[in-house]
Amino acid sequence: MNTHKQSRLYDLAIVGAGFAGLVCARTAALRGLRVCVIEAKKEPGARIHTTGILVKEAADEIDLPHHLARRVHGVRLYAPNRRTMDLFAPGYYFLTTHTAELLRWLAQEARRAGAEIFCGERFQGAERCGDTIRIADPDIETRYLIGADGARSRVARSFGLGRVERYLTGVEAEYENLAGLDPRFLHCFVDSLLAPGYLAWAAPGPEHAQIGLATSKARTPDLAAFTRSTGDLFGYDGARLVERRSGRIPCGGLVDPIGTRGVALVGDAAGLVSPLTGGGIRLAFRSGRRAAQAVSDYLLDSGPPPECVLAAEYPGFGMKKLMRTALDTTPSNRLVDLAFSLPGAEYFARWVYFHRRGGPGLSWSEFVKRLEAGEAVTR
Ligand SMILES: Cc1cc2nc3c(=O)[nH]c(=O)nc-3n(C[C@H](O)[C@H](O)[C@H](O)COP(=O)(O)OP(=O)(O)OC[C@H]3O[C@@H](n4cnc5c(N)ncnc54)[C@H](O)[C@@H]3O)c2cc1C
Repeated sequence: MNTHKQSRLYDLAIVGAGFAGLVCARTAALRGLRVCVIEAKKEPGARIHTTGILVKEAADEIDLPHHLARRVHGVRLYAPNRRTMDLFAPGYYFLTTHTAELLRWLAQEARRAGAEIFCGERFQGAERCGDTIRIADPDIETRYLIGADGARSRVARSFGLGRVERYLTGVEAEYENLAGLDPRFLHCFVDSLLAPGYLAWAAPGPEHAQIGLATSKARTPDLAAFTRSTGDLFGYDGARLVERRSGRIPCGGLVDPIGTRGVALVGDAAGLVSPLTGGGIRLAFRSGRRAAQAVSDYLLDSGPPPECVLAAEYPGFGMKKLMRTALDTTPSNRLVDLAFSLPGAEYFARWVYFHRRGGPGLSWSEFVKRLEAGEAVTR
């Protein structure tokens, strides 16, 4: 005899109200599914762990409101010896965001589409009940379960799915009034002593400056060392420290398996972060949206199992994983300085940041002039 009281039945339950979970919830609810999201924090956008920079493709994916972001067109790349390289691509930009507000907006959009969001509820595990999955707390039953619960996914653990095992450790501080920061650029520092295996950065956010770094292997990132070494550039004296954050950035590629009957992983939980750049928000949006579409095709239109659809679509990151292995060897700073001076260095850096969308023959100052005049760039 079933002694359980009747639990609420959903078509789709999503664990995690981050970038992937909220986009998934909105799409699935728009498609007519009964959707809920289970989130451990007290509200979406609380205690964020990310810099929240969107590549243009990520912004194109969700059409976020203008006031939540700031466009940054250029990247200024610094060698360990502080030689710089300015990179840009006509028509392309990055968006630094009011990240907490962006997440709140995504939550509002998901709710408006009809999804319910249960905050302050930590998913601990679930059990199968015939064709559905039962979660004890909050007491719900669901026809499909999506794990959008980040790099330490509890959903992956509960269902024996692949787990994120390789990651970078990132730390960041937000400053008000960092007067020395040129806001036209994302400032990226290659330095094997300060940020072995990755980069240090200074980003002009819509409101505050974000200063951070990430390291691979067991090295603990030393943010104080980075701020000391950039004091002359950015001038922290008149600035106020507003917030600090830290987190794990998956860098080992896709986990395996990404799903099982009735359950699939999206975003960081699936390892969907570029092993090279550490960017995961675009893939979180994309995988969240695709997962919702696959689940609605499956439940409403007898489509194929979503976990199989997603496993076939998710990127393998072949080339980027190879490059991650090269970065993990942490070449010496002298070698990096030398690489900066090689003829192909700028082409390669542009490929990493802009995927070959360069501006051949156009100088940064010319580009900025045309930007300010509102002119299109013809090539
Ligand atoms: C320091 C740092 C800087 C970064 N900067 C960038 C950047 O600038 N641009 C970029 O593209 N990427 C960046 N990344 C990576 C990016 O933040 C992630 O790829 C992205 O957040 C993944 O989104 P997600 O929705 O999959 O997971 P998350 O954003 O991790 O969201 C997971 C959600 O699940 C919730 N949750 C977890 N466990 C449970 C549970 N058991 N029960 C209920 N809820 C749970 C969490 O509270 C959270 O809300 C950065 C990462 C770090 C650490």
